[in-house]
Amino acid sequence: MIIPRDGLPGLAARVRPSGAGFHPSIWAARALIAAGLPMSALASAPAPVRAAAQEAPGQVLFTGGLVVDGTGSPRRHADVLIGGGRISEIGPPGSIEAPPGTEIRDVSGLVVAPGFIDIHNHSTDRMWDRPLATTQIAQGITTLIVGADGSSPFPIDEYLVRIDTLAPTVNVGTYVGHGTVRWGAMQEDYSRPATALEIAHMARLVERGMMHGAFGFSSGLEYSMGLHSTTEELIALAKVAAEHGGHYATHMRDEEENLLEAVDEALAIGEAAGIAVHISHVKAGNASVWGAAPEVLRRMEAARERGLDVTADQYPYAAWQSGLSIIARSRAIDNPDSVAAGIEAAGGPGRLQIVAFNQEPSLNGLRLDEIARRKEMTPVETVLWINESGGAGVIGHTMSDEDVETFMQSPLVMTASDGGVGTAHPRGAGAFARVLGLYAREKGLLTLERAVQRGTSQPARRLGLTDRGTLREGAIADMAIFDWAGIIDRSTFDSGLRPAEGMVSVWVSGVEVWSGGEPTGARPGRALRRPGTDQSG
Ligand SMILES: [Zn+2]
Repeated sequence: MIIPRDGLPGLAARVRPSGAGFHPSIWAARALIAAGLPMSALASAPAPVRAAAQEAPGQVLFTGGLVVDGTGSPRRHADVLIGGGRISEIGPPGSIEAPPGTEIRDVSGLVVAPGFIDIHNHSTDRMWDRPLATTQIAQGITTLIVGADGSSPFPIDEYLVRIDTLAPTVNVGTYVGHGTVRWGAMQEDYSRPATALEIAHMARLVERGMMHGAFGFSSGLEYSMGLHSTTEELIALAKVAAEHGGHYATHMRDEEENLLEAVDEALAIGEAAGIAVHISHVKAGNASVWGAAPEVLRRMEAARERGLDVTADQYPYAAWQSGLSIIARSRAIDNPDSVAAGIEAAGGPGRLQIVAFNQEPSLNGLRLDEIARRKEMTPVETVLWINESGGAGVIGHTMSDEDVETFMQSPLVMTASDGGVGTAHPRGAGAFARVLGLYAREKGLLTLERAVQRGTSQPARRLGLTDRGTLREGAIADMAIFDWAGIIDRSTFDSGLRPAEGMVSVWVSGVEVWSGGEPTGARPGRALRRPGTDQSG
């Protein structure tokens, strides 16, 4: 059960804003919340099918590879022995004596890295019928975290049990979402600040989510469900997550004109609640704030000097994707003036690309100016018409490459996709390969070691995962083995699902899930709970 991030149930039933999963039976879900019944009573997902034969992790010796261990340490030629799902030994080439029965894999010329951990992923409900998660493992993702932007599964224990029953290729963890608990406490009456009683109700739901293994508390303050919450409400709820050792991940109040105020609010919530802050998909969202990246980073660094643990993630593209309502000022998508102001702030209709328009799918992928021309309407009229016709998603080509590259080079910023299985924006299939291939190899903006680190040990550390994200003896054998000369994203804004290239072999808990350009069919992934959570729960 996912609360739609645009917050409008009627619209959400037809649109998938920002690639987030959602449950179409929102009203049924609402009734269940009101009745105190578990969401799973909806039985929405098809019955999971477990892989026929689950391969047991065997002993494998990888020889001749170039180990980039995820910590940022320099690459080194080394052999890696895995067994029982964990890394048994890493040693100089030829130094490891393989026990009898060990499979030998020659990985000469290839990089051996930890599997990537995607801390902001929207595969949530899309894996039920696509448990191979092909576009994810093709770029080396071995763990993904859902429930970002304030929109999470709930109850979390039931979602995680269903993930375990499904057995996807990748490991899956989640946040508990602010919008989700807000819906639970306020239902359709969410377009106002919450009362003290409602905040107390939300706090209980956050606590329940954290006790069930959520990695932290997420918010989506640009979406209708979060728009009217006060800073005090967020502090109160973030405190609950802090008590359970979680962090606060936020899609901030504003990524455009009021970007810096939104950064200040996120930092203030962290300081007041005593919780680590993680800024989701950090960006300078339109021309009014181009060049603001250094100032955003300066404020984050200043907060760190004051003692606040603050980090951010980023998808490596100069275009965002969201629900159509995001382009209207104050989210007033039916108001022509708000829409006109939003189009202007984006830099004009040529920078807005319509996607997920179910009413007329032939228009998907076209820019707003082109659709307006074909329909003989103004761009504003076109937006109003699309909204009345069921709504759509929008990709905004409104960021500057310079800001993307400034954030890319900060040690505080890690890689995340903000996409997932079957999402339209190319980031869902390309993010991790693109950081390696485009930004590290081709542009030389960061080293191979740093490009790997910002997708492995850095998110692991943010999440408190101590046995994943680095290649070291004893760690779980989640591994991405790729061709450093060939790794690259292939997904585009016109063809968002094309898998990345150059990933040769991917392992999850010591089982190979990707080989020779396709999934092996093995599905060793499992639900991950925040370390310290009662696993018997
Ligand atoms: Zn977001």
